[in-house]
Amino acid sequence: MLNQRDLQKCIHCGLCLQACPTYVATGQEAESPRGRIYLMRQAHEGRIDWAQAARHIDTCMGCLGCQTACPSGVPYARLIEAARATVNQQARTPFQRWVRGQAIGSFTNPTRLRWMLHMARALGLRRAPRWMANLLGARESAVRLPDAPRRPWRPTRAVYPAQGERRARVGLLLGCAMQTLFGRVHRATIGMLTLAGYEVHIPTNQGCCGALWVHNGYPRQAQRNARRLLRAFHTVDYIAVNAAGCGSTMKEYGQLFADTPDQAAAQAFSARVRDVHELLADAVLPPPPRDDTLCITHHDACHLAHAQGIRNQPRVLLQQLPNLKLVEMEGADMCCGSAGIYNMMQPERARDALHRKIAHIKATGATIVASANPGCTLWLKQGLEEAGLPIEVLHPMEILAKAYDAMP
Ligand code: SF4
Ligand code: SF4
Repeated sequence: MLNQRDLQKCIHCGLCLQACPTYVATGQEAESPRGRIYLMRQAHEGRIDWAQAARHIDTCMGCLGCQTACPSGVPYARLIEAARATVNQQARTPFQRWVRGQAIGSFTNPTRLRWMLHMARALGLRRAPRWMANLLGARESAVRLPDAPRRPWRPTRAVYPAQGERRARVGLLLGCAMQTLFGRVHRATIGMLTLAGYEVHIPTNQGCCGALWVHNGYPRQAQRNARRLLRAFHTVDYIAVNAAGCGSTMKEYGQLFADTPDQAAAQAFSARVRDVHELLADAVLPPPPRDDTLCITHHDACHLAHAQGIRNQPRVLLQQLPNLKLVEMEGADMCCGSAGIYNMMQPERARDALHRKIAHIKATGATIVASANPGCTLWLKQGLEEAGLPIEVLHPMEILAKAYDAMP
């Protein structure tokens, strides 16, 4: 539910404008955070229909660049999530809601996602067909479909013991896209966490964290998913997350369950959620056995930098490798346009953000981009390949696990 007090916190100063990728691209007030908050307020107070505000609510990347830039503490994440839920209910037909729900349901179910990707490959499809994009309200299908591994990665144990003295028991979130497409990142994460002294548990019956649902205006479905995680991870000290979007959502479960009987349990769960960089930064790692010469630039996933305030930890961890040169790119924390399923819904805007990001990566001369969010990683890979740039995109855990010989 939109909260009038949250809306009134915006004092229209405009200090957020240059942090907003859609404003930077268009120069239009309605495509800025300030403009969107104004539209939300107008619709909330009944001065305009939600249908009039919907276009600009839809084009928001939800990157939260504005939230960290705002000196007045406007809780933009809460506002945009509530506005999207209202737009869904008041400005879309039941059929439109159903189509979007089906799309999100497919991406958040690892079995369905894998099956879909295998089918697409068998049919020779490199992108979703245009009619499918049209159903989602997009004019074209911009996102290249990734290849799903023939055999998905499965953990070989329920518990991976800590090396040396145990610091804590952590449960690893497997997630949806991460589990389907990034098994290697999970292996690297397990390797680094156990090396740092964490005992890593892989609870069964995990499922999706609900991030895509809540970011797209489906809070009830997000709650259903969250409840399953609350049950699955009740025995561990911390819940370790290696995907930025999932971690930020799980840290906000208290808000997702606001004014419900589950709120206290959700808040207690959120207090145990840690991004994997936070866990490693708290530990002391031995010197790495390998000292490959690497030139890396770091892309700050929005839901790591803006939503969780995690900027230094990945950089500090990477710079522990003796021959690693970290070159900062311009606009490292500006959204790449992936933004969950934004690049499917708003391909033009998403491409614009991607091209800007690729130009900044190219300017660094780096041969590796570190990225800790699956959506960003796939989108950046696509952009780099389309630009003909031989630059790898790797999760920091992959880079670290290789240097530490820690891949289980
Ligand atoms: S979330 Fe990102 S795209 Fe949306 S208004 Fe804020 S800065 Fe702009
Ligand atoms: S959201 Fe914050 S920074 Fe942007 S106009 Fe409002 S008060 Fe100013």
